[in-house]
Amino acid sequence: MERGTPLAGPRTILRRLRDVMARAGSAQERLDQVVRIVAGEMVAEVCSIYLRRAGDVLELFATQGLNPDAVHNTRLRIGEGIVGDVAANMRPLALADAPAHPSFAYRPETGEDIYHSMAGVPIQRGEKLLGVLAVQNRTLRQYDEEELETLENVAMVLAELVAGGELVGPDELKPVDGIGVLPLRVEGIQIVAGVAMGRAVLHRPRVLVTRIVAEDAVVEQKRFAEALAAVRVDLDRMLASETLGHGEHREVLETFRLFADDRGWVERTRDAIASGLTAEAGVQRAFDETRARFSEISDPYIRERLSDFAELTNRLLLRLTGRSSTIDPASIPDDAIVVARDLGPAELLDYDRTRLRGLVLEEGSPLGHVAIVARALDIPVVGQARDALAKIENGDPVVVDGDHAQVLIRPAEEIQQRVAETLSVRESRRREYAALRDLPARTLDGVDVSLRINAGLLLDMQHVASTGADGVGLYRTEIPFMVRSEFPDVDSQVWLYSRVLDQAEGKPVAFRTLDVGGDKVLPYFGTFGEENPAMGWRAIRIGLDRPSMLRRQLRAILRAAGERPVWIMFPMIADVGEMRQARRLLDLEIDHARRRGQPAPVRVAVGAMLEVPSLLWQLPALLREIDFLSVGSNDLVQFMYAADRGNSRLAGRYDPLSPAVLRALRMVVETCATANVDLSVCGEMAGKPIEALTLLGIGVRTLSMSPAGFGPVKSMLRGVDLGRFAGYVEGLLERKDGGLRADIDLYARDHGIRL
Ligand code: PEP
Ligand code: MG
Repeated sequence: MERGTPLAGPRTILRRLRDVMARAGSAQERLDQVVRIVAGEMVAEVCSIYLRRAGDVLELFATQGLNPDAVHNTRLRIGEGIVGDVAANMRPLALADAPAHPSFAYRPETGEDIYHSMAGVPIQRGEKLLGVLAVQNRTLRQYDEEELETLENVAMVLAELVAGGELVGPDELKPVDGIGVLPLRVEGIQIVAGVAMGRAVLHRPRVLVTRIVAEDAVVEQKRFAEALAAVRVDLDRMLASETLGHGEHREVLETFRLFADDRGWVERTRDAIASGLTAEAGVQRAFDETRARFSEISDPYIRERLSDFAELTNRLLLRLTGRSSTIDPASIPDDAIVVARDLGPAELLDYDRTRLRGLVLEEGSPLGHVAIVARALDIPVVGQARDALAKIENGDPVVVDGDHAQVLIRPAEEIQQRVAETLSVRESRRREYAALRDLPARTLDGVDVSLRINAGLLLDMQHVASTGADGVGLYRTEIPFMVRSEFPDVDSQVWLYSRVLDQAEGKPVAFRTLDVGGDKVLPYFGTFGEENPAMGWRAIRIGLDRPSMLRRQLRAILRAAGERPVWIMFPMIADVGEMRQARRLLDLEIDHARRRGQPAPVRVAVGAMLEVPSLLWQLPALLREIDFLSVGSNDLVQFMYAADRGNSRLAGRYDPLSPAVLRALRMVVETCATANVDLSVCGEMAGKPIEALTLLGIGVRTLSMSPAGFGPVKSMLRGVDLGRFAGYVEGLLERKDGGLRADIDLYARDHGIRL
């Protein structure tokens, strides 16, 4: 709109408020004027302002229309009544019939029983709730979208007034309970394993918007457009940077970059600016609205988008307020533990990685974008650490214990010393394991073992070289699918699998076809509402029911291989017939490639995963169909004992080191040897020294494990006289029932085997 044309309603209110703020007078007098202006302009019989006081109480500070005696007397708890509901959820609410709402709380002293309709919006600054602004009418009035937006604009102006500290002292709302003094332990979830110790850097990037009402809408639209263009250029520069390397963390950043082009969001921001806000206030408004809309959605995909959006908002606000970064390099210690509510992928990369030791998040999930970047940087991360930002002060000593999903805040001197010792022992172990890299994986009595790694992300592939592994025994193809925002087409799969093979440098990689379903959810694929998803429509079952999807994946693997040999295995085979069908689909693709004149792999080795117990009684027939068999002990043990592998209450209840599991596996070893089919174990058992030792004892000769288990397993096996140990296990299996762990542990101690 041109300057000088008649002003629209929302802009009139903002202009009048700006005059009020500019005039002399106390903050209380200004509040009183604001409620009068809003009530008048919005044709509301009541306009009230509630401000937050100590003890999570909302106090009526100003009203037009309610009983004036109620001011400073009426108090509601956060969560109590409709005003409390708006505060608790930090979300606007508009109700045509407020008394009918379950949250309604009637306060006789206010005299509000005659009002039916009500609309309220939170007054917030950054993520902090400061109060609630509400209007009421006698009639059953439907407040429209534009009216709510007007209230939100007013609430932004009020937030600045309240932040001045004249109405409610800033100290009043500071948390107490010994914060900043006492040691604390906060439990969370493991996002990235490992332990780190350092000094806290609170990541509070929220740039607070202080200029809210625009002088000139055209100028503000231009400022927004310029800032957006500059942020896009920044992200492009980050993507072009050599140091970013390759892998999924780049992809994550690319997805984030696309987000900056989202038309819906750009339009919403432009509309907010058109209503009379400055560019920065418009950007903030668009974000607050989106967050309020998504606040109740727990879908991890949506939450991830929201945290990307928070980061984008912040980058724009920095630009618009003329700052280059919220991170002041001079204030970052060289052992920084970053503590944040949530962090975007690019935000983590803003920190100098040589100074970064660990990360604590109040939110976050293991498959979140920041987790992927942190894993690439090899920094331990604990997520869902409740109220970490309130409990930790800048500079506090903090231990991030990703292994035990806990954060130690201001730990006592002795604890810090213990952690420092643990870290130095780990470091020397790490060096020791690295020194084993070029030594053979051979037992004391000369038995050679093939050790491989499990991988799922491109960045895991670096461990083939760093450990000296014989190859990748399990490449979980679903993991890269899980970090994308849509199903990857054949070309992007070819790109990915080619990189995997390039990085394996000629060593074998066993690609396992998509194992989705169960606990592995693709955000764009949805869940199927199954009662028992682990035993539901998952893995090869989906592949055979949706053959075109499986065929596209097989086509991509073959194309990526070119002439290189390739290993392909199918997950969750429960019946030989399924294996035959899967093989047929693969043969069709091989045929198809040949007819198109595509280079063909010199060898295509086909395998099955043994994860479902029913296969144990179909082995001879199965082995005729395949070139190799890989035991997925995680699933096999869960199904043998009917014990959910993810249920922490059952953890430790059934030990895989039991005659039941081991006799079954020994039978598998013997049958595979007779049929001359390669056998490996790729479940977690393979990466734990005591379990790996036992597997070797019953005759397994190929183990594939997560890279972290590699050094410990290799070091263990180089100290074993396997012939003697095998005889011991044989005896145990015949004699004992129940667990064998304690016996094997004692044997290892007596024979100097490092577990
Ligand atoms: C297994 O089940 O042991 C296995 C290796 O597969 P995943 O852990 O991916 O289910
Ligand atoms: Mg499995």
